[in-house]
Amino acid sequence: MVDKEIIEAIAELSESELKRLKLLIDNKLNLDINNSKISYRSKDIKCGRESCNSCPHGPYWYAEWTENGKRKTKYLGKILNEIV
Ligand SMILES: [Zn+2]
Repeated sequence: MVDKEIIEAIAELSESELKRLKLLIDNKLNLDINNSKISYRSKDIKCGRESCNSCPHGPYWYAEWTENGKRKTKYLGKILNEIV
């Protein structure tokens, strides 16, 4: 991707989308330094409330990577479909 395309794409994002994008970028930069590979996945979550009629909830997005042999996850947010 060239700079112009990135700038145009970012210009169309809302503030909340930008915050998530920043989180993704921060994660990616940190994790690249650690020589790790990060993957993103969505999960549907059951809240466990008996009165809930809309389970499962989501999708909620998580970043997953391995650091020093340990599997790590980080919650990113609810709507990432357009970014990832
Ligand atoms: Zn529920």
